[in-house]
Amino acid sequence: MKRNFSVLFFVFFSLSLFAQNNEVKNVILMIPDGTSSSVLSLSRWYKGYLAGDYSVGLAVDPYLCGYVRTFSSNDPIGDSAPTTSCYMTGQPSKAGFVATYPPKTDSDLFPVDATRTYQPLITAFEAARILKNKAIGLVATTYLEDATPADCMSHCYSRKKNYQLAKQMVYNGVDVAISGGAREVRPLENELKEHGVNIIFDDIDGFRSNESDKLWAFFAEKDMPYHIDSDTDNIPSLAEMTEIALKCLAGKPDGFALMVEGSKVDWAAHNNDAKTIIDEYLEFDKAVKVAIDFAKKDGNTVVVILPDHGNSGLSIGSRKTNKSYNDMTIDELMKPLMDYTVSAEKLGDLLASSDNAEIKPLFKKLCNFDISDEDIKTIVDMKAKSSANDHSKVAYSLSKVVSTILYKNTCIGFTTYGHTGEDVFLAVYSPTGNAPTGWMTNVDINNYLCSLLGVENQLPKLTDELFAKHQEVFQGYETKIEKVSKDEKDDNYKLIVKNKKQKLEIESFTNYIILDGKKIDLESVIIYVDKNNTFYLPKKIREYLQ
Ligand SMILES: [Zn+2]
Repeated sequence: MKRNFSVLFFVFFSLSLFAQNNEVKNVILMIPDGTSSSVLSLSRWYKGYLAGDYSVGLAVDPYLCGYVRTFSSNDPIGDSAPTTSCYMTGQPSKAGFVATYPPKTDSDLFPVDATRTYQPLITAFEAARILKNKAIGLVATTYLEDATPADCMSHCYSRKKNYQLAKQMVYNGVDVAISGGAREVRPLENELKEHGVNIIFDDIDGFRSNESDKLWAFFAEKDMPYHIDSDTDNIPSLAEMTEIALKCLAGKPDGFALMVEGSKVDWAAHNNDAKTIIDEYLEFDKAVKVAIDFAKKDGNTVVVILPDHGNSGLSIGSRKTNKSYNDMTIDELMKPLMDYTVSAEKLGDLLASSDNAEIKPLFKKLCNFDISDEDIKTIVDMKAKSSANDHSKVAYSLSKVVSTILYKNTCIGFTTYGHTGEDVFLAVYSPTGNAPTGWMTNVDINNYLCSLLGVENQLPKLTDELFAKHQEVFQGYETKIEKVSKDEKDDNYKLIVKNKKQKLEIESFTNYIILDGKKIDLESVIIYVDKNNTFYLPKKIREYLQ
C-alpha cells in the first residue's frame, strides 16, 4: 500500500514540475555516456594540472544545476538502452529495451501495464519532428544504432538488433547523423540517397566541405577509435562533429533537435582506464563548448547536458595506495595519468602483435613507467595461452590485463567494471536563464525536454495513434505475416492485409505502405516485434481500406 502511494506521488510530482511554457526553437541534448560525477572532478583537476592553473574549469561547470535519478523499470542501476529511452519517452524500461514498453516484473520500480509490453513508444524527438517539423540530428562516437542514439529515433526490445535499429533510423527522417557504424548503413545507402541525403564514408575532406542540410557521415565500420588513439588528420573530434551538425541544422525554419553523445567515456569506464576516461570526457566537454557558443549566439536554443548513468565507481584516491590520503600530492595523483599516451585497448592491441622483448620498452615509451617482471610474466603467459590466430581476441584479453597494470600505477580507484546507480549531474544552458534545479528523475527530464520541444503531454496520444497493434487495426480483415528473405540473418518481415478488392503490403521498419502496388508515405516508422508476432503501425492505415 505504502509503495503504491509513493509511486502515485512520483508520477504527480513528475507531471507538475515543468508546467510552465518553456518552448524554444532548438534543443541540443548532450549525453556523456556512463559518466559518474567523479569523472568531472578528476577531469577538472587534470585540466588544471596540465594548465598549471587550478582555477580553470570545464565548459559544463557554469550550467550545473541538479541531480537526476536514472534507473530501469525494474532495476535501480540503469543500462544505456532504457536510461536514454526514458529521457526520450517518459517511461522507465528494462535493460536492453530501446524506446519500447517493458514487461511487468516482480521488482518494478514504476507502474507497468502488462498489456503494453513490447509496444514501441514515441520519443520526444519523433514527436518534435512530426508535430513541430523539427529537423533531427544524432552525433555519437560509437555507432549510429548504438543504444543512446537509437533511443532517440528507433524502437526495439533488444539493443542488439543492430540491423532493425539502423533501418528504422534510415526511414525515420533523421536529417543529420555523424558517427561510426558504417557497416549497418552501407546496405541502405540507396534508400538514404532517395531521401536526398549526402552520405559520406571515411572522407574527412568531403565531410568538411559538405553543403547539404541532410548529411550522414561515418568514420568507422563499428565504433570510432578513442580520441587518445585517433588519427586526428582523418577522424574528426566530437567538437568538430558537433560543429558540422549544427552548421547543417542551423538554417531549419522550424528549428531542430540534436543529440550529441560522448559515447566512449562509458567504454573506457567499463575498462577501468582512467586516462582514457578523462580524455574522452574532456573531448566531450569541448563539444559542450561548441554547443553553448552556438546557443548563446542563436538566442533561441537550449542545451541540456546529462549522463545516462554512472559507471565503474571511479574515485580520486584508492585503498590500493600505500600512502594515506592526506600525504598524497597532486603530482602523485596526476603525473602517471599525464604520462599515459594510449588507451589500455590500444596498448593491448600493440602487445598482441609484438615480441615479448618489446613489452618493457612499449610500457616505457607509451606510459613512461617500468613495468614489473611479474606483470611482464602475466602478459607473456596470456599471450602463450591465447590462440595466435585470432588477433582481436588476444588484443581484447591483453587490454584487460594492461588496464589492471596501468591502474596499479595510479592513485585512482574503481569498484566495478559495470554501471553504477548513483544520481547523475544535470547542466542546462537556457537563453532565459530558466533551468530546472534540484533533484529530479529521468521521467522529469522527459517532461522538461517535451516542454522545450513544444510537445508536452503529446507522447501518450501519439504512441496510441502511431503504434497500434495490427490485430486491432485490421480486425475483420485477412492478415498474413511472412519473412521477406529466407536468410536467417535477415530481420525483415512483411504484413499482407487483404479484403475482396484490395491488397496492402507493409514492410517492417520502413515508413511506407504499398496499397495495390501504389506507395503511400507515413509520418512514422512501422515496427515488427517477433516476440508477440505483431506489427505496430498507425491506426489511420485502416482508412485506406474500403
Ligand atoms: Zn550508457
